Order: sequence, then structure tokens, then C-alpha cells
Amino acid sequence: MIIGEQKPLEEIKGLIGDAENVLVMGCGTCVTVCFAGGEREALTLATSLRMSTKLDGDAKEISEATVQRQCEWEYLDQVSSEVEGADAVVSLACGVGVQAIAEKFPDSWVVPGLNTSFMGIPVEQGVWEERCAACGECVLGITAGICPIARCSKSLLNGPCGGSEDGHCEVDHETPCAWQLIHDRLIHLDRLDVLMNPQPPKNWKASRDGGPRRIVRDDLRRAAEQE
Ligand code: SF4
Ligand code: SF4
Repeated sequence: MIIGEQKPLEEIKGLIGDAENVLVMGCGTCVTVCFAGGEREALTLATSLRMSTKLDGDAKEISEATVQRQCEWEYLDQVSSEVEGADAVVSLACGVGVQAIAEKFPDSWVVPGLNTSFMGIPVEQGVWEERCAACGECVLGITAGICPIARCSKSLLNGPCGGSEDGHCEVDHETPCAWQLIHDRLIHLDRLDVLMNPQPPKNWKASRDGGPRRIVRDDLRRAAEQE
């Protein structure tokens, strides 16, 4: 899932600026699960903004709404009157949700209430770790299901850098060395042989380095045309 963290209240207030009528909008999917931008967080932020702007002597009208997913038009349709009636929308979705609102409502001012951090998993209560960097050409099939792009500090593809110490990364001693994890798991599975084939240079064009990406599924497009 996508993991995010709420921005500091003062930063959000700065982004709202002079807007009098503000809608705080939660998202019911990833950011709900990571406790950053769901219904509960939208209610809490709305309350904090109400109190804080009142204490500042600049009380604002703050309302809140949460949709199942801010990144799909059909869910945004459900809140079009609230969005269009607000001077500013604070989106607690990831950056995709913020941009979906900007695209869907060209006359509305939308600002992010979160910093979108990464794609990852909860590893224990209150701790999330990155697991995928959306590189566009997945190599998990030859790395025992452990991502060297997202989890090796140098995104190395053909084994460790040599700085690994006691199973930890030389860049951050709190972080497990991804290549130690890959090596240990391959031994456990008796598949160390997969490391005998050196990987060619990675095609980074499939990643962010190739510019904004797009996936087109002609089968789905054709099916939609026939409906
Ligand atoms: S190899 Fe690429 S697509 Fe696969 S998990 Fe890692 S970053 Fe994600
Ligand atoms: S120590 Fe391990 S995780 Fe850190 S950069 Fe080197 S190979 Fe990558």
C-alpha cells in the first residue's frame, strides 16, 4: 500500500492561506490503513484546524468528508458539491488523490495534507517499511522475493557492495542489508544458483528516469467501447 505521513499543522495552515471555507477530505483506502488520512484523521485534522484558526483570531469554516478512494472519478463524483463549495480542499490522500481532485475540479484549489512517503508494509504496530519503488521491470523472480531496488540503499542488482556489516547496510546500520537478506533466503530455499547469472544493466527508462509512465490495455479499452 501507499504510506504517507501527515504534514505539520502549521504547514497545512500556511497552504490554506486566506481561504475561509475549507474542506478536509480523507481517503478510505491506503492512507486509512496507515492511519494518516482516513475518516478518523480527517475529523481530527478538521477539529485541530477549527480550534487553531479560532485561537489565531482567524476562525475558518472547516468541514470534512471521506470517500472510498480519491484516485477514482466515480468516488469524487459523490463529493462534487462539497469540493466546489469550498475555497480550499485539504486532501489527506496520497499525491495521486490530490492530483485527481485537481484534474476533476479545475476551478477548485486543492492542497496536500500528507507527505506521500513510499509503497510498503506495516512490519509491526506503528512501523512501516518501503518494499517497492515501482521500477517498472520487476526482478523479484531472481532475488528470492526481496527487492534490491527499494531495499538496497544503492539499488544494486548483482550482489552486495562489500560494505555490509553483520547483516546491516553500511549506509544505515539500522537497516538490514538487502543483499544479505536475498543471500540468506536463497540459501534457505537451496536456490543460490540463481545468483550465478549476472544481471545486465537495468533499463531505468521503465522507472521514473524515463519520464511519466502510462499503461494502456487495449483489451479493456475495446471492451469499454463495445459497452
Ligand atoms: S524490482 Fe521493481 S517492481 Fe519489483 S518490487 Fe522492486 S522496485 Fe518494485
Ligand atoms: S550494505 Fe547491502 S543494502 Fe547497503 S548498499 Fe551495500 S549491498 Fe546495499
